[in-house]
Amino acid sequence: MLSQADVWKEASATDKVLIVGKTRRKSSVCIGGITYSGRSIRLESDAGPFSDELRDFYLGEVWEVTYRPKPDLVPPHVETVIYSQRTLVESAQPLDSIAFIEQHMPPVEGGVDSLFAGLVNRAPSGVLYINRATGVPPCSTLFCRSDLPLKLDLNYARGYRYRVGDAENAPSLVYTGFAPPPPSLAPGTLLRISLARWWRPPDNPEEEERCYLQLSGWFGAQEAARPPVLVRGAPSDTDAAAFPDPLITLQNVYGYDEFLPLQRQAIDSVLAGQDTLIVLPTGGGKSLCYQLPALLREGLTVVISPLISLMQDQIDQLHALGVPACVLHSGLSAVEYRDNVEMVRAGQAKLLYLSPERLESSETERLLTQARVQMFAIDEAHCISEWGHDFRPAYRNLTSLRQAFPRAVWIALTATATWRVQADIRTELRMEDANTVIGSFDRPNLFLRVMQRTDATKQILEMVETHRDQAGIIYCRTRAGVEQIAAQLVEHGIAALPYHAGLDAHVRAESQRKFVRDETQVIVATVAFGMGIDKPDVRYVIHADTPDNLEEYYQQVGRAGRDGLRAECLLLHDKADIQRSRRLISQGDSANNQAALGMLQKLQEWVQTIQCRRYELLTYFGETAPPTTCTMCDCCVLEVGEDDITIPAQMFLSCVVRTKEAFGLTHIIKVLRGSTDKKVFAHGHEQLPTHGVGKHLSQSVWAELGEQFLRLGLVERGGFQNSVLSLTPKGRTVLRGASVYGRLPTAAAQAEKATGGSTATRNKDQTPHPELFEQLRALRLELAREAGLPPYIVFIDRSLIEMATYLPQDPSALIQISGVGERKLETYGEAFLNVIQQYCQENSIAQNGRISQSSSSAPPAPLTPAAPSEPHTPPPLTETSAWVADRFDEGLSITAIAELANIKRETIINHIRAGIEAGREFSVPRLVAESALDTEDREAVLWQFQNMNTTRLRLIFECFDGRIPYVELHILRLIHLIELRNS
Ligand code: ADP
Ligand code: ZN
Repeated sequence: MLSQADVWKEASATDKVLIVGKTRRKSSVCIGGITYSGRSIRLESDAGPFSDELRDFYLGEVWEVTYRPKPDLVPPHVETVIYSQRTLVESAQPLDSIAFIEQHMPPVEGGVDSLFAGLVNRAPSGVLYINRATGVPPCSTLFCRSDLPLKLDLNYARGYRYRVGDAENAPSLVYTGFAPPPPSLAPGTLLRISLARWWRPPDNPEEEERCYLQLSGWFGAQEAARPPVLVRGAPSDTDAAAFPDPLITLQNVYGYDEFLPLQRQAIDSVLAGQDTLIVLPTGGGKSLCYQLPALLREGLTVVISPLISLMQDQIDQLHALGVPACVLHSGLSAVEYRDNVEMVRAGQAKLLYLSPERLESSETERLLTQARVQMFAIDEAHCISEWGHDFRPAYRNLTSLRQAFPRAVWIALTATATWRVQADIRTELRMEDANTVIGSFDRPNLFLRVMQRTDATKQILEMVETHRDQAGIIYCRTRAGVEQIAAQLVEHGIAALPYHAGLDAHVRAESQRKFVRDETQVIVATVAFGMGIDKPDVRYVIHADTPDNLEEYYQQVGRAGRDGLRAECLLLHDKADIQRSRRLISQGDSANNQAALGMLQKLQEWVQTIQCRRYELLTYFGETAPPTTCTMCDCCVLEVGEDDITIPAQMFLSCVVRTKEAFGLTHIIKVLRGSTDKKVFAHGHEQLPTHGVGKHLSQSVWAELGEQFLRLGLVERGGFQNSVLSLTPKGRTVLRGASVYGRLPTAAAQAEKATGGSTATRNKDQTPHPELFEQLRALRLELAREAGLPPYIVFIDRSLIEMATYLPQDPSALIQISGVGERKLETYGEAFLNVIQQYCQENSIAQNGRISQSSSSAPPAPLTPAAPSEPHTPPPLTETSAWVADRFDEGLSITAIAELANIKRETIINHIRAGIEAGREFSVPRLVAESALDTEDREAVLWQFQNMNTTRLRLIFECFDGRIPYVELHILRLIHLIELRNS
């Protein structure tokens, strides 16, 4: 290896360079390489040190570069050279990088502490640095290996940091590379370490200058599990601020109130012009992550999607929302095709959907060059990987497309959990620099259940019967099995169709069409069915046979409940299935036998587990953070029940906490029921806010609930005679807002019915009117048939449920319903309002959606699927709301009540709202005092509520251009409601 002095002396050289480092550097990148003559260099373009073109270098590539040393370099940062010319020689890892590095820059021996000639110091936090005063190393990059594993430090908030070993103040290195960081790096992995710039605290000029050691990359790391939920490289605020608020578009165009988890981060990243890899589970709302930016950005967005049915579905949805979008695929007629091409040429389309095969045609190529393509969205991006389950060779065309449009913003989307596939997507699409948005793969609305298969027909029928009129998929191993089950269902009067590879393609297409359009309820299918179906309201998936691995299982159950409403997943298990699979795999001559057997083994363990199924599943997929509380699997909910018992659980747990986790069940129940027992007084427990909150439920009901909370693992027993209750971590999540489902003891359920309102459950005071719901469904089906669309494109289930609950009477009320945007209001509003109004008239329901006093009709019975979660609250007043009102009367502030009850502030506000609607008095001056606005703003907001005659916060929020935060609007709406009531 030449000394750095030699480099300095040289004027200009041309050499081949292996790229070994690519790190973040301000807004640009920093590229490290080793020349074929064995020199360590850092490349800078003569277009400037932060030139964008540096991004075109990728790790492992070999470039031929003409360069000269940068003048005036000062140790240790002596490697920088400036290149004037560069040509990519080979891109596909032509060299064994590790061998090449070992030859030219042999790894330094010893631990990370002894690097750089022993000049390294370690701060108490573990951070490694060099103090300028003690000595300056001759160069700034080296390679080493560590005997200890490196672990990703998840407690570190900014960027990534790795800890070397497990010791208390273990050395730690900031990671500055682009490659996605695995949770750990095995001992012996070849590490690249570099030195940052000299630095001293700006406010402390006396301090010695330091430079920190950074981990800038590694070679030969073991493939590791994927990292937990991470969102990195968040764009700067200024970039995204140039666009209108995405929330407004979400509300106006899509009719949704808020973003689903991580949608906002993904959209902000894309709007800031950053390439973005989006990994979210099925139903996570991925489409919106590119559609919404496509609407806000100028120019055309090209979407690559693997299946015609998927593309057509998206186009239908977009058209229903009034978005100009079109599609080019081989299934179009010549006329349609030409029209769509014209639309793109004329710049009229915001989105163009293309199949990957289309990219092979030169006509498409010409079209894309002519159009102003700003963005590419690669849907189902895992199709690019041979490791995925749906490899599509045509997806490989995307690599060259990417090179042809380097300036466009690239978005890749997938629901595939495996790290391996994600890495492939990055490499093939050249997205190493992309921001990553990875969501949890938890699907909290899926109830996971495994049952011993005893009588398959009976077990299947039971599930199907409880979901009459709802869509379901039944998976079965064999064609014969499919045919048999389908026939049995038909015998029982259920609209079911078989689907397997033995059927004609057009028969299959027709079955799929019928299913999507609600013309048949159940599809019985071999694994062949499912991909290319975006139907959001599949309410259950049954596995009649045990699948081969968890990947397959999770993918298939994932088709249920995309709309976020509860869905059931039932696996009928039999040991014989596993034995058969094992035999078949062993007989096969695939090289992957061992892997396949391993996966089967995992599945078997999972089927037999007594732990939380959800937790086990997510751990299997590499998620290290356990899901919050789980009450949606058969292992967690022993008493399988569907009642929402969150509120009693919150009361109970809060009481356990407030009595300092020092008492048994009997005492807790006494306090809850407001007992004036000696023991209660002795401990001052009559003073607790939870004293008496549960008096509406009997002692025996609480005892039964308490047992359920124990079984659900929310509390555990210990201490004296093993009778003292304390909270588990899972119990704490309930106090932070997680829901609990179980069985509301019958007596309590009856009490509920008698009072006609909810005492112990949430949302029951807001149930949809079942009859109206059916009428709305019928109307939806009629309109969908008329338009030749699947019903869910007209309105999703959730929209109908909300309509049947809140009974909107006019357009301004209808647009408040989730899933009702401006275009749908225009197209369908009148028809749906007519039905609702007529229903209200026939049933003497007053305009405001309450059942009028004179009406003798019974309160509506609850309806599945579950009611929407936003609690608007008409009378009668629940116990909790009354309790809140009492506390407010006593002079407590909203925040104080929230703290007392361990409930969110917003929830308290909702209870006050319920109180107002039920006619309770609240002091207006005290509510005014809750607001932080000045008088002028406050009056302006109140005037606007009145002026627009609305209680809809969004409308007011928009009136003030988002200047008044929602927390304020919530408070002021209370005042508005009081004024409204009193006027
Ligand atoms: P994915 O492609 O990730 O499986 P989709 O994009 O098909 O998910 O979205 C799933 C469902 O969620 C769709 O019905 C979609 O309209 C709905 N959805 C998307 N974003 C939101 C949101 N912010 N609020 C409510 N529903 C949403
Ligand atoms: Zn569970």
